Amino acid sequence: MSASTPQITIPADLLPADGRFGCGPSKVRPEAVEALAAVGGSYLGTSHRQEPVRYMVSRLRNGLAELFALPDGYEIMLGNGGSTVFWDIATFGLIEHRSLHASFGEFSSKFAAASAAAPFLDAPVVVTSEPGTHPDVLADPTVDAYALTHNETSTGVAMQLARPEGATDGQLVLVDATSAAGGLRFDPTQTDVYYFAPQKCLASDGGLWLAAVSPAAIERIERIGASDRWIPESLSLTTALDNSRKDQTYNTPALATVFLAVQQVEWINDNGGLHWAASRCDRSADTIYGWADKSEYATPFVADDAKRSHVVATIDLDGSIDAGTLCKVLRANGIVDTEAYRKLGRNQIRIALFPAIDPDDVAALTACIDHVVEQLG
Ligand SMILES: *Cc1c(COP(=O)(O)O)cnc(C)c1O
Repeated sequence: MSASTPQITIPADLLPADGRFGCGPSKVRPEAVEALAAVGGSYLGTSHRQEPVRYMVSRLRNGLAELFALPDGYEIMLGNGGSTVFWDIATFGLIEHRSLHASFGEFSSKFAAASAAAPFLDAPVVVTSEPGTHPDVLADPTVDAYALTHNETSTGVAMQLARPEGATDGQLVLVDATSAAGGLRFDPTQTDVYYFAPQKCLASDGGLWLAAVSPAAIERIERIGASDRWIPESLSLTTALDNSRKDQTYNTPALATVFLAVQQVEWINDNGGLHWAASRCDRSADTIYGWADKSEYATPFVADDAKRSHVVATIDLDGSIDAGTLCKVLRANGIVDTEAYRKLGRNQIRIALFPAIDPDDVAALTACIDHVVEQLG
């Protein structure tokens, strides 16, 4: 703690049971870590080509298919590199000539940039909107892929997923669901590639990408894979598809990441599935936005209620309270990662409401913030 951070001790009875509110890596449930420790001698440190690890990968693929209620013909694929690497993978293996991107924050703008930089693709169509909103996406006959983002983690804006009205069969809908998958409801038939990484709603660690892919996406992957486009092997979706179908990855995955993701997916499925997890996030969202609406110094950043994310809440603070100081005091009291997304440059806090985070802890957090603000006076 720096000398300039005010010395404020939050009373123990106000503190949340768990102080992790970051948007990724985010809270890993202690039960999942205990389960990992229990297989420390039999699963960790064993070959990813042998049955114990392949069985874990199959549980992850089957568990996700159940969680999303995937229609027949959809498959779960996986590989190494996380969502950022998946943008490069998609640029190589999913966009045929030209993509359209809804760009409304840090993450959605990055996929647009990856596609724009590819020498073998036409310049993408990029539709933008102000931070704290998302653009409406209209069908465009000149593109073969629409890139949407289910939850823009940098601003706390969530988008209802739907194929653009008038989109044709040959146009794929690619959705960055990194911070949404497992916490927000969606209709998989409205998507062709719903991709994510497990360090957010799946309460695991980073480094892996996962994707639910439609038959049309598989057809596209195979067609581009068979074309004369140069694709680095480690970024090849045909190679990833072959390996995924064998419950493997092209190169070595982090076994702990796979295991922890399975713990979270099965925990959600055993408790009632996506509806249960999303309802938990709804409860946390009601708590934090309700608190901000009533507060004299806090206001939800996203003005349109329908676009306010139920997995990542962004809350603006009145100029009289310095968000940076508030976050430092919280951190000194064991409440971590409430800082806003740096590049947004607002006097703001950002709170993850992922399924692993107890809605009661979100309520406790609001009481802690009120306490600190009162003390800062
Ligand atoms: C976190 C995040 C990413 C980046 O994920 P990595 O696994 O770190 O590459 C991409 N998109 C969204 C929406 C995210 O929240």
